[in-house]
Amino acid sequence: MNRWHPDWCAGGHRCGLGEHRADPLAVDVPGLGRALLIRVRAADGREHAEVTLTVALAAAEPYARRQLLDLTTDLTRVLERATRASARPKGGIRNG
Ligand SMILES: [Zn+2]
Repeated sequence: MNRWHPDWCAGGHRCGLGEHRADPLAVDVPGLGRALLIRVRAADGREHAEVTLTVALAAAEPYARRQLLDLTTDLTRVLERATRASARPKGGIRNG
């Protein structure tokens, strides 16, 4: 296990298997949802942000389904904008 931690690493149980993880940063938008962001340095040294998004959906269809469809479009734009200034790793980001 890597015993050297970057200054932003939360340490403890959050990092292991060569990975370092920051404390989560929560962005709450009352009545709309929440975003949880975590900075991660993978075992290969590359860094990425893990983002968990919680969005309030409409109680009725087809509105909830439409919201989900809009989310896929909007999230594509977010990914494009967020990675514009970074070197994109060949093969993309690994899932899991
Ligand atoms: Zn660490």
